[in-house]
Amino acid sequence: MQHLETLAVHAGREDFAQLRVHAPPLDLSTTYPIADLATAGESFEALIHGGDGVANSIYARLHNPTVARAEAAIARLEGTEAAVAFGSGMAALTALLMARQQAGRHALVLRPLYGTTDHLLASGLCGLEAEFVEAGEIAARRRPDTSLVVVETPSNPTLDLVDIRATVEAAGGVPVLVDSTFATPVLQRPATLGATYVWHSATKFLAGHGDVMAGVICCDEEHAAPLRTLRGITGALLHPLAAYLLHRGLPTLALRVERAQANAQLLAERLAAHPAVAKVHYPGLGTVRNAGLLGTQMRGPGTLLSFEVRGGQAAAAALLARVRLVTAAVSLGSVDTLIQHPAGLTHRMVDEATRRAAGITDGLLRLSVGIEHAEDLWADLAQALAGT
Ligand SMILES: *Cc1c(COP(=O)(O)O)cnc(C)c1O
Repeated sequence: MQHLETLAVHAGREDFAQLRVHAPPLDLSTTYPIADLATAGESFEALIHGGDGVANSIYARLHNPTVARAEAAIARLEGTEAAVAFGSGMAALTALLMARQQAGRHALVLRPLYGTTDHLLASGLCGLEAEFVEAGEIAARRRPDTSLVVVETPSNPTLDLVDIRATVEAAGGVPVLVDSTFATPVLQRPATLGATYVWHSATKFLAGHGDVMAGVICCDEEHAAPLRTLRGITGALLHPLAAYLLHRGLPTLALRVERAQANAQLLAERLAAHPAVAKVHYPGLGTVRNAGLLGTQMRGPGTLLSFEVRGGQAAAAALLARVRLVTAAVSLGSVDTLIQHPAGLTHRMVDEATRRAAGITDGLLRLSVGIEHAEDLWADLAQALAGT
């Protein structure tokens, strides 16, 4: 197989020479003229059962060639048969939970998680009862109606790692979903470790430029079909222009992740040595749970870190107010550096006891490191820290 860097540039573009194009055609059609009734009927039948690669796209809620291209490219990067794209990461998770609850109403879930993931799972809105457990409890808590195990690694915002292979073993055949948003396929490929579903908020690194909302689930064809059917019924679509931009982001994915990761390692080291900082969570410093998975499960320490400023909420707010080059904003995985306060923003809908147990303190800030020059980033953080 070609290397990821090569696939990132060429996947989903295999037919360009034949089409005599150099950029993906952007197809904005909402409906597609039929050639003849028999062929169109066959395509329609296939699409409502979650098929792909049909002769006629019929209607854009069922299929869109530009979206299908981006999906094919992402599947290649994750090493899965298929990828199914949605209008956001949360729309993707919603479809997945709705699909799984048909197989069984119980899910086992490891915390910590992205705040809205935690919220959606705890709410039971999609018909799955989520039981929150520790990694060591999965095997014992499995029930006959357990249809899903959910993990996020690296996790948000403390960057703890979860052993994917061990989770798959403990799940004993129950499908495992890995939120791999923070890692990207550049740093880890959960399907190669046995995960059934690999989930990305493609809003983040995959699209990479802070201008696209998208979600994707990578899996085998058997598990992809029900997701496509649900997407077609519920309409949780990715717009073709968003898919075009997502596909356009992929060629630079490895470059972006590697540069941001080098910046993150340097910033983590300097933050850890700064007197105003009580603690830095970063796999590259070994200060996260299961840091030993670095080099085996995860190819590198990643581009996100979190750190606790001395002085709690007030100091964190002061730092956010002082940054200039770094933008105080939620989200992550863009080319520019973003900083946010999990307790006050992304994790505010997670109850306080759960937040505390997960290490989300009032002084904790999460930094999504971009691809700027590391010294410029450090200069900004250092001047902001001076005011805390
Ligand atoms: C952003 C994010 C999500 C949710 O994705 P949206 O595209 O915002 O809906 C899920 N998990 C992680 C780790 C995220 O960062």
